[in-house]
Amino acid sequence: MKFSSMKTIDIHALLRPHLRKLTPYSSARDEYTGKLGTFLDANENPLGSAAPGRHNRYPDPLARELKQSLRSILGVKEEQLFVGNGSDEAIDLLFRAFCEPGQDRVVLLPPTYGMYKVSAEINGVETVEYPLTEAFQIDLDKIRTDLLPKTKLIFVCSPNNPTGNCIHQASIEALLEWMAEDGLVVVDEAYVDFAPQQKLIPLLDKYPHLVLLRTFSKAWGMANLRLGMAIGHPDLIAALNKIKAPYNVNGMSQQLALEAIQQEDKKIEMVDLIVQERNNLARELNNISFVSRVYPSDANFLLVRVDHARQRYEELINKRIIVRDRSRVILCDECLRFTIGSPDENEELLQALQHMSK
Ligand SMILES: *Cc1c(COP(=O)(O)O)cnc(C)c1O
Repeated sequence: MKFSSMKTIDIHALLRPHLRKLTPYSSARDEYTGKLGTFLDANENPLGSAAPGRHNRYPDPLARELKQSLRSILGVKEEQLFVGNGSDEAIDLLFRAFCEPGQDRVVLLPPTYGMYKVSAEINGVETVEYPLTEAFQIDLDKIRTDLLPKTKLIFVCSPNNPTGNCIHQASIEALLEWMAEDGLVVVDEAYVDFAPQQKLIPLLDKYPHLVLLRTFSKAWGMANLRLGMAIGHPDLIAALNKIKAPYNVNGMSQQLALEAIQQEDKKIEMVDLIVQERNNLARELNNISFVSRVYPSDANFLLVRVDHARQRYEELINKRIIVRDRSRVILCDECLRFTIGSPDENEELLQALQHMSK
C-alpha cells in the first residue's frame, strides 16, 4: 500500500476538542526504546518475578515487533496498525477519541454485536439505530443520508454477529460515500477469517475514514490473551495511540501473538476444519423437526430458528450444553446461536437436539 496514493484525513477536525492539544503520558519505554543496557528507569524489580517466567520488565508500549510481523499478513504499514487489549478496547477508544458525550451521535445496525451500544452508553453517546433488512443487509433506503454527515461513527459488523452473514461491500462503500469524512465507518471483521472472500483492506487507500477491526480471539484461538487490532489511516491510528493506556497489551500476549503468526498454517487448518464442521452441522440441523431455519453463515457460528427458543435453550442447559439465546434480539425471534465446537462437541449438540421431543 503506497502512502503517496493515500488520501489525507483532517484528524484535527474529527477529534474531540479537548484531545487536540493533549500531551500524552510518556512512559519509560517510550523515552528510551533501546533493548540493551542497565535499565534503572522504570522502577521495575531487577531480581525476577514471583510467578514462573520473567515478567519483571514492562512491555513495548506500541508492540512494534508484533506490528512488524502483522504487516506482512495484513498487507498494511505499521503506522496503520493499532493493537489493543481485545478489539473491545479499540471500540471504546474510538468513542473516547471522537465522540463528545451528549453531543455527537453514532449509528448502529441491529441485530449486531452488543458492545457498540454498551460502549456508546458508557461514554454517554447517543445511538441511532437502523435495523438490517430481513436478509440481514443494510437498509440503505431507510438510512437518512442527511443524518450521516452529523454522525461520528457508524458500526458495521461483517460477517455480522449474531446473524453470521457478510454485509455487501457495495453497501459499505455507499456508507463511506455518504459519511464524507465527517465521521468514521468502522467495519468489525472479527470473523473475516471464516468468510470466503472479503477484501476491505484495499479500500483503506480510497477512504481515509474507514477503520477495520480485527481480533486474535476467534480464528487464531487466542481469546484468553486479549488482543485486537484497529487498521486505519496513520493519523487516526496515532490518535488512538495517544489516548490509550501506556502498556495496554501485555508482553506475554505480544510474544505469543508473534509465535502464532509464525504458525499461520495452524490457524488456516483450524479455520478449514471449523468451516467444514459448520457446513455439516447446518445440513444436519435442517433435518430436525423443530428447526425452522438455519441461516447461512460466513462465521464460526450458526443462527438457528426453532419452535420455542427459551424452552430449547433450557433443555440444552439441562444436558450441560450452553448455547446463546438470541430470541429477544430484533429480527431474531425464536433464534439460538450455536458456536461451532470440536467435531465431538458438534455431535453431542446434534444428538441432544435429535433426542428432544417435537
Ligand atoms: C468476539 C467479537 C469481537 C472480539 O472482541 P475481543 O475484544 O477482540 O475479544 C469483536 N467483535 C465482534 C463482532 C465479536 O463477535
